[in-house]
This record gives sequence, structure tokens and C-alpha cells, in this order.
Amino acid sequence: MYSIKINKVAESRLPQVDLNNIPFGRVFTDHMFTADYINGEWTNLEIVPVKDFSIHPGNLTLHYAQSIFEGMKAAANPDGVPLLLRPEMHVERLNRSADRMCMPAVPEAMFLEAIHSLVGLEKDWIPSSEGSSLYIRPFMFATDEFVGVAVSETYKFVILTLPVGPYYDKPVSLKADTEYVRAAPGGVGDAKTAGNYAASLYPAKKAKAEGYDQVLWLDGKEFKYIQEVGTMNIFFVIDGTVVTPAFNGAILHGITRNSIIQILRDEGHTVEEREISIDEVIKAHQDGNLSEVFGTGTAAVVSPVHRIGYQGENYDIDVDSFTIAPFAKQYISQLRRGQIEDTRGWIVKVEEPVLA
Ligand SMILES: *Cc1c(COP(=O)(O)O)cnc(C)c1O
Repeated sequence: MYSIKINKVAESRLPQVDLNNIPFGRVFTDHMFTADYINGEWTNLEIVPVKDFSIHPGNLTLHYAQSIFEGMKAAANPDGVPLLLRPEMHVERLNRSADRMCMPAVPEAMFLEAIHSLVGLEKDWIPSSEGSSLYIRPFMFATDEFVGVAVSETYKFVILTLPVGPYYDKPVSLKADTEYVRAAPGGVGDAKTAGNYAASLYPAKKAKAEGYDQVLWLDGKEFKYIQEVGTMNIFFVIDGTVVTPAFNGAILHGITRNSIIQILRDEGHTVEEREISIDEVIKAHQDGNLSEVFGTGTAAVVSPVHRIGYQGENYDIDVDSFTIAPFAKQYISQLRRGQIEDTRGWIVKVEEPVLA
């Protein structure tokens, strides 16, 4: 057991919040978890009111982006008990990202205790309406003060929680970009690290100006093979077979992707993880064999794609005829809320924190 000091707010902000009508990512709960990595170990584990950090202008993260994050969700079951979906997969991925960015690992027990204590404390902030949940944002950043490219010796690990509604509330359109690159094998595309998102802003802005919601990233060498969306992994249903790009070092190892693959296989679907080119998708569309396209991610859950733009042409997909994506979305949503049986041991109940 780690010892987590708890300093509660004098008065909760919860009464001022309409939990079932909130924009994604802008409303924070009362408390956050913080810990410091100093002299080779994690120390100062505490839950405190959400407040500003004081940061030296020479903070390494501000200059060189040694920073990683995770995204998880908690939802409440019919008895009001908060549930987590595969939390151990998130700490495993956090530590894979940490390793790539030369950052220290967070011990699994420390991560889980911090999540349980914080979510337990904030459980009244979990929205009850369908499609809403408590978003959990663990992140770590370098705290050394040094203007020079180097591995920081000190870090801060923080967990924020935010009540959220749907990330995308309608089907999305994607532009298959043939000019900009999100990630290449050997880079950091498979680490959940801050710089990937900074780099994606400009191409996303251009795609939005052209009327698309997001970019569908292609490989950076031939602009031919599909990678992902940047907030979501991507799935296609071609001739009844579910296809998603195989990992190649440039694709984020989505946990929702992994869950959906298993859920669909258990349901009797054929799911292939392989190279898939944009040409194959366009040809399937032209032949009438592309029946569904959808993205998967913790924030987005399962998001139907109604349009793909490629080389100046738009290819529209009839989302109303989708069957696999709505099934997957409903399955994972009900699983999260404890409304269907957890046959795979993925659901973890949040234990009440021991309040100091
Ligand atoms: C987080 C993320 C995803 C989705 O991963 P999940 O574990 O399913 O939430 C997909 N792509 C990128 C680049 C991401 O950062």
C-alpha cells in the first residue's frame, strides 16, 4: 500500500455543474492526484484540490516536450459503484510511452491506488446519462530546470478527472491526407506523447477548413497505407470482414481497438489486423463492398465515419446501414456501466478510498 495524503476542498464545486450537459474536457472535478519523482523514486503522493502549478520558465517540458499521458473512463453501475475498464492495460501503455520518452515507470500498484482513491473520492461527479462518464487523464512531465536537450531527472505525475459527454456527437468525416505525416515507424507515433498532437494541429486545421472533421493518417513514405485518426484507431468492414491496420510502430496501441477486436471475434466476426491501403478502401467503396467505417478510442468510444475524402474526391458511406459499429458501441457502453455480464474479467470496481 502506498500512502496517499488527502487534502479535501472546503466546499465542492459540484452543485454549480450540470453534469449531463457539459462540453468535453473543460470541466474538472474538485481534486487531482499528484506525485513527484525525485532522487530515483516517487514521493509526495497526494490528492489535493485542483490548482495551478508553479513552473520555472526553464522547465524542460516547455522546451523539449518530455511529456506523456493516458486517457481512461469511469462509469457507474446500476448500484452507483464506479467501474473501470481494463485499467492495467492503461498503466502498461503509460509505461511503454514512458520508456520511449526516457521517463520513469509508474509502479502499477501506485497507479491503481491513485486511480481508485481519486475516482472513489469524486464518484458523485460521475454523470449518469448514457454516453457520459468520468474521464480520467493521468499524465507525466519533466520538471528539471535546464535549457539544453537532456533527459530530466525529476518528473511530476498527475491524474485529473473530468465529467464528460460524448466526444463526437455525430458521425465524422475524414480527410485521407497525402501531404502531412503524423508518424513513421521508428518515431514516437506509438507513444502517447504530447508532441504527436502538437504536430497534428496544422494538418487538422487545414482538413477542417476543407470541411472535414479529422485527418485519416496515411504512412509517411508512400502515403498509401492507412494508420489511424490520431484520436482513434480505424476499422473498415469490407465484404463482411472487419479490417484494421496492423501495428507498425506508427500506430497507437489503442485499448478500445483491442477490446473491440476481441468482442467482435467472440461475436463470430472475422477480424483482420493487416496492412490496408487507401486504394483498397476506395476500390471496395466503388465496388459496393465497403459497408462500414468507424473509429475507436476511449474518448470517442465507437464513432461512425460518414465520409472519406481522398485526392479531391469524397466517398460517402451510409452510416444508417451500419450494424457492427452500433453493436460494438452499445456492447462497450453497457459493459462499462455494468449493464451486461463481464465475461472477460475486464471490469474493475473502484474500492472506496481510505480517507486519512
Ligand atoms: C489514445 C489514442 C487512441 C485511442 O486509444 P484508446 O486506448 O482506445 O483510448 C488512438 N490513437 C491515438 C493517437 C491516441 O492517442
